[in-house]
Amino acid sequence: MEFSTFGDKFARYSGITQLMDDLNDGLRNPDAIMLGGGNPAQIPEMVEYFNRLTQQMAASGELTQALTNYDGPQGKNIFINALADMLKAQYGWDISAKNIALTNGSQSAFFNLFNLLAGECPGGNKKKILLPLAPEYIGYGDSGLSDDMFISYRPEISLLDNGMFKYHIDFNQLTVDDTVGAICASRPTNPTGNVLTDDEIAHLDELAREHNIPLIIDNAYGIPFPDIIFEDVTPVWNDNTILCMSLSKLGLPGARCGIVVASEEIATAVANMNGVLSLAPGSIGPALAHKMIEQHDLLRLSEDVIKPFYLRKSQHAVELLQQAITDTRFRIHKPEGAMFLWLWFKDLPISTMELYQRLKARGVLIVPGEYFFIGLQDDWQHGHECLRMNYVQDDEVMQRGIAIIAEEVAKAYGEH
Ligand code: PLP
Repeated sequence: MEFSTFGDKFARYSGITQLMDDLNDGLRNPDAIMLGGGNPAQIPEMVEYFNRLTQQMAASGELTQALTNYDGPQGKNIFINALADMLKAQYGWDISAKNIALTNGSQSAFFNLFNLLAGECPGGNKKKILLPLAPEYIGYGDSGLSDDMFISYRPEISLLDNGMFKYHIDFNQLTVDDTVGAICASRPTNPTGNVLTDDEIAHLDELAREHNIPLIIDNAYGIPFPDIIFEDVTPVWNDNTILCMSLSKLGLPGARCGIVVASEEIATAVANMNGVLSLAPGSIGPALAHKMIEQHDLLRLSEDVIKPFYLRKSQHAVELLQQAITDTRFRIHKPEGAMFLWLWFKDLPISTMELYQRLKARGVLIVPGEYFFIGLQDDWQHGHECLRMNYVQDDEVMQRGIAIIAEEVAKAYGEH
């Protein structure tokens, strides 16, 4: 069948679709070692909490009420009001409910925002989304209605002690001109676990204001929830920032609830797009999150349960990796947040795409680095030498997966 240009682009098998397929297969196959997708951990304390909360809401009729009614296109008002009050009280941000719109997962917020701010523009201009530091989140890659929607730049790399490294934005290279419609960065970053410093964010904010374009900060893992961030950095919002949040990494990916905090103009645009694309965002996630705010559990659980859980898991995974792979060409990006480790095998004779295939054949799923260099103008060898693994599995599963990665990496280095 002949598809439209839109169909051709969106119906093809994209990187993100492969990732979600692998994730689904990995979750169904009890023997697979799933170090691939971004499914959050089943933290026993959180699972228990969600069981109790849903039972309580089922008994009170609130769950049925959420299921049996559409919300407005902006999303569930009681949650939006409570969230605006909470963010205002917590950070002193000058926001009200008019600055917030909900979406069906933050993935769909990015689709809407990118296509709102970039692509074909009146007067024949074509604008792009600037990703100031590649590698960036795989899910952005295929979300532009027009091709070549992204432009990104290689980072500076600092080599740290203990076999670690860290990326920084290379502001000397970064070019913001009238072909850029918005700047976007995830903080903490998926796939690397990098957290842009307060200075880097201030610099991006300044650049965005100077050029009269918004700065989109993808806060899927950030503060104040789910708080999977191990660095002491300041959360930022002003009326030129579009802060995107999500309930997914809190442990509720099935609720498909994304949150956009932006100027009234942008929040209204997102709500209007919701009307056309989905009538209204889903109601269950916001109903649960509203209850969590009401009972003062949202921030408490993020800080006391979720953050310490991921911090311990990341430290343990680093230990296991460093014990299993002693080659000095191997380095790990300093884990500063999110739920991934970004591994760099310098001078690896095979690409990590090939390594991914070999690991998959042995039942271990990771994500090859190649997918994450969205919008980079030239091929960069470094991109073929890195891979992303998540560290949310049980310790014993992590140990088995890492042992197989170590074997395959040693074999690959031996092929030089
Ligand atoms: N942004 C980042 C950085 C992510 O890692 C993810 C999911 O993994 C998303 C956005 C989208 O998440 P969701 O659509 O579940 O809110």
